[in-house]
Amino acid sequence: MSEAYNKLIDKNKAWAIEKKDTNPDYFTKIQLPQKPPFLYIGCSDSRMPLDTYTQTDPGQLFVHRNIANQVSLTDINFLSVLEYAVNVLKVKHIIVCGHYQCGGVEAAYSNKAEGLVGNWVNPIRDLVLKFDDELNNIKDRHLRLNRLSELNVMKQVENLYKTTIVQRALEANPDQFQIHGWVLDLSNGLIIELDMPHERWLRKGLVKPEWLE
Ligand SMILES: [Zn+2]
Repeated sequence: MSEAYNKLIDKNKAWAIEKKDTNPDYFTKIQLPQKPPFLYIGCSDSRMPLDTYTQTDPGQLFVHRNIANQVSLTDINFLSVLEYAVNVLKVKHIIVCGHYQCGGVEAAYSNKAEGLVGNWVNPIRDLVLKFDDELNNIKDRHLRLNRLSELNVMKQVENLYKTTIVQRALEANPDQFQIHGWVLDLSNGLIIELDMPHERWLRKGLVKPEWLE
């Protein structure tokens, strides 16, 4: 076994001992049924463990991650997670979180993604074409890609509103949960909350949630 691999196992043992020493009830509590307040939809990037950035304990975040944090309306894996989070766990917040320096966004932008990943990030290619003017006006490539990461999060939040899962839940209770779009800035570890036109994305006829007042 490699040294890096062995270190994982050793670190786990040390962590479990420390947790039990400092909080004897820790593992008893973790075994209780989960009631997480947050659904986190994020990028698979290894630098994006949201629990580290938000100091959340096990039991707080229900998680779905894929390359470039896509809300895909045909992905049965994602839709199952969303359905369970909304209908069974009844989360209070749904968070789509992208990040700057996203390899998936960069690959889509530069047309470098191949094979299945190329297919997967194709919706971001559509965004590049749609926001062509805005993006081209940003001279610095790094900043242009940052903006594309933001536009990608906004698009995925818009997609959330298109799911029947979210629409049915909002129909029954407009305030069952709030929806948020974030990007994480890897250069300082800070979350940026993005402004976006939630109201425009609410299906016609649905009551406006109080948190959007
Ligand atoms: Zn990424």
